Amino acid sequence: MEMNLKPAIERRAGHPIVIAGPCSAETEAQVMATAKELKEVGIDAFRAGIWKPRTRPGSFEGVGVEGLTWLKNVKNELGLKVTTEVANTQHVFEALKHDIDILWLGARTTVNPFSVQEVADAIRGVDIPVLIKNPINPDLALWKGAIERIYKAGVTRIGVIHRGFAFHGAKDYRNVPHWQIPIDLKREFPDLQIVCDNSHICGRRDTLFDVAQKALDLNFDGVMSEIHIDPDNAWSDAAQQVTPTRFQEMVNDFKIKATGSTASASDLESFRTQIDEIDEQLINLVAERMKLAEKIGAYKKSNNISILQSTRWEEILQNGIAKGGKKNLSPKFMERFYKSIHDESIDHQSKL
Ligand code: PEP
Ligand code: MN
Repeated sequence: MEMNLKPAIERRAGHPIVIAGPCSAETEAQVMATAKELKEVGIDAFRAGIWKPRTRPGSFEGVGVEGLTWLKNVKNELGLKVTTEVANTQHVFEALKHDIDILWLGARTTVNPFSVQEVADAIRGVDIPVLIKNPINPDLALWKGAIERIYKAGVTRIGVIHRGFAFHGAKDYRNVPHWQIPIDLKREFPDLQIVCDNSHICGRRDTLFDVAQKALDLNFDGVMSEIHIDPDNAWSDAAQQVTPTRFQEMVNDFKIKATGSTASASDLESFRTQIDEIDEQLINLVAERMKLAEKIGAYKKSNNISILQSTRWEEILQNGIAKGGKKNLSPKFMERFYKSIHDESIDHQSKL
């Protein structure tokens, strides 16, 4: 679908777009204290969740409408643009009633076309910027579908938020980035602003900077980060939130490409990113394989079985050579590959 998009957020020359604020609005004091410090950092919009889509009931589900008045205070007293997540008609009406500047659709909303359509119908005829998070699952078409639904409602200031994708067994990330998906989206829609929600990708503090910088290296337009005045005591997503002071350091350290262009990442960069992701998966898989080998080693030890079982090894090797052959990997390579994995397994088992 051909789209004629305008920037969702005006970019300050030489600066990435910076959207920051707590995962959730908790109290009036917490919202205002966080916003005041972020104002000093220099942000483009202040975020706070008012209605929180939680995986299981019983956790904090947001303060609701009351929190919108706190955001309105941030807007009026500090002159910051404010943004919150909307997921249904009532959310949209309340947000508009409270003069929220920018709306965003969460990952759990983008995933459901009924919900996206409901939000689109509620927004129809209102000229407000909308940011659309990627769906929970790595499905570019579903993400595009949500963008198209919002666009068809007459919204032209649309941006997207890359927050990573759910993956069973993920360890390094809370949500794996699959960088190729946002890169492909940007390639198809070069005018679409894209910011990286490093907080929900990382799920922890120590990797936040690297993920944000990676996004900037890939020519993303900016970041959306969860910032809390007292992260350890946050009512939601405490592990991934940092203080405004820490955030200021990160923003100061961001390296922005000289061109500051919004062009999509070069092919070479994009191929390299894909290779890096695959290498990471390879390492994780080999490490998991070693853990299993160790379990087998322990079993062999307690049952007095020798470490080297030559018929089993021969079977694994022949199997690997046959399967590799079907994928255009030479028998010689497959043999060296398996031998080196096998050597490492035996080392791990012998250490027991
Ligand atoms: C959030 O931004 O706080 C949130 C709920 O994120 P997501 O929709 O990415 O899970
Ligand atoms: Mn959150």
